Amino acid sequence: MKETKYIFVTGGVSSSLGKGIIAASLGKLLQARGFRVTNQKFDPYINIDPGTLNPYEHGECYVTVDGHEADLDLGHYERFLNIETHRANNITTGRIYQNVINKERRGDFLGKTVQVIPHITDEIKRNIKILGNKGEYDVVITEIGGTVGDIESLPFIESVRQLKWELGKNCLIIHLTYVPFLAAAKELKTKPTQHSVKMLQEQGIQPDILVLRAEHDIPMDLRKKVALFCNVEPTAVMQSIDASTIYRVPLNMQKEGLDKVALTKMGYDLTKLPEPDLDKWIEFVEKMEGATEVVNVALVGKYVQLQDAYKSISEALMHASAYSNRKLKLDMILSDKITPENVEQKLGKKDAILIAPGFGQRGMEGKFTALRYARENNVPCLGICMGMQTMCIEFARNVLGYEDANSTEIDPNTTHNIVDIMDEQKNILNLGGSMRLGAYKCKLKKGSRAYQIYGKENISERHRHRFEFNNKYKEEFENAGMICSGLNEESDLVEIVELKSHKWFVGVQFHPEYSSTVVNPHPLFCSFIKAAIEK
Ligand code: GLN
Repeated sequence: MKETKYIFVTGGVSSSLGKGIIAASLGKLLQARGFRVTNQKFDPYINIDPGTLNPYEHGECYVTVDGHEADLDLGHYERFLNIETHRANNITTGRIYQNVINKERRGDFLGKTVQVIPHITDEIKRNIKILGNKGEYDVVITEIGGTVGDIESLPFIESVRQLKWELGKNCLIIHLTYVPFLAAAKELKTKPTQHSVKMLQEQGIQPDILVLRAEHDIPMDLRKKVALFCNVEPTAVMQSIDASTIYRVPLNMQKEGLDKVALTKMGYDLTKLPEPDLDKWIEFVEKMEGATEVVNVALVGKYVQLQDAYKSISEALMHASAYSNRKLKLDMILSDKITPENVEQKLGKKDAILIAPGFGQRGMEGKFTALRYARENNVPCLGICMGMQTMCIEFARNVLGYEDANSTEIDPNTTHNIVDIMDEQKNILNLGGSMRLGAYKCKLKKGSRAYQIYGKENISERHRHRFEFNNKYKEEFENAGMICSGLNEESDLVEIVELKSHKWFVGVQFHPEYSSTVVNPHPLFCSFIKAAIEK
């Protein structure tokens, strides 16, 4: 068996430089040369996973097929590499400590004092190697969250230091920093980068490659200066300039030679390797950037102040728009602010409306108003998770006439519990938790819009919710024109609803956005955008 190579991506100077995008871009470039690649993320925070985090803290919570609530960078990995990630692809400090403490309680350490080095670092190294030891990957790219110098990331950096020592050429370290431009002096400044590399060196790590984020081109002489001060070859100092879209970054990094330098440093002979095959990727980027006509989509949700809160949805919409030769104009609208008086003004000019997922009461009424508007005015409308649940409640209130219709999440005492905690859910839970998490199979009704969209009867989609459509109302809904077109076969739980006499009105209990990728845009989003641009 060939040995797995491990590449680490660390960050310095500032957070939010796009380490995830650089890691995913390198993954894409190596994959395009035929390597089997996966990306992994370590998060230095103490939460066991981001499942309990408010989206305002770290953006959306991504869900893997095996039901892991993960950092949103895993979404970038899946979208860029067109692969599935799993629980092992995202580890937090909390999980590392939890594992070590569980072992301690079991007596696994045989009376020894349990310490950060070696016990925590050993557990980190074990988790890094879990993916490599599977024998499924030639390269594992591990992104270390946070910024070098943070107290929390020290054990991770120390583990990388030890691994570099153990693995030699099979290990590569890429450090991403920021080169600010001082407008008054009209100069790019490398000092923060020098300091950041010094800090890494103090922790025993010599980076092999430096990627410098900047808003302006970094000239050769400046790169040479960085190389000299940081003990890195000048060819291994490269820039990453702000790109028009994140999907340009792999192409930009290819121009900088990131893949070539990385492969050479890991001992590969470039003359024996194929050039990257990026045809499909380039075709997508050109479509996306070449589109001139706009599709106007409104996303109605409660976390709209932070773009990252709906990252996978906006990316999925972007993929679908590009393949329809449209430029996506996504207007994120705070549902709390929508009222019957202003709904026409807020949504009147939109080609399509998406009702977002969410938890809790805030902003529900605005969602109902938006839904009623979309339903009565034949505006294409997609409801995701809580979005589908609100679709059903709005229908029950305004079409079936149940004024107090609600979800028991919002009103535990409602007499018309259209959405509720259902026993059927408990019977099919994957991991024995209280939430339906990860991929579940769904059977589509022949002749329905859903069936036509997917082009097949059996699908599998990812879930993240506690509440379900109440089957008690199914017949009444269907008689009134709201069809339950997707069911979980083992339980009969309703996964998809659609309005028969509407241009495009579909609600899904699952999250299709998690599985839309650049080369595989999701059929639901593609169909939604097609309906939006159809005159
Ligand atoms: N709050 C709803 C539930 O738990 C929906 C969750 C979501 O939109 N992800 O069922």
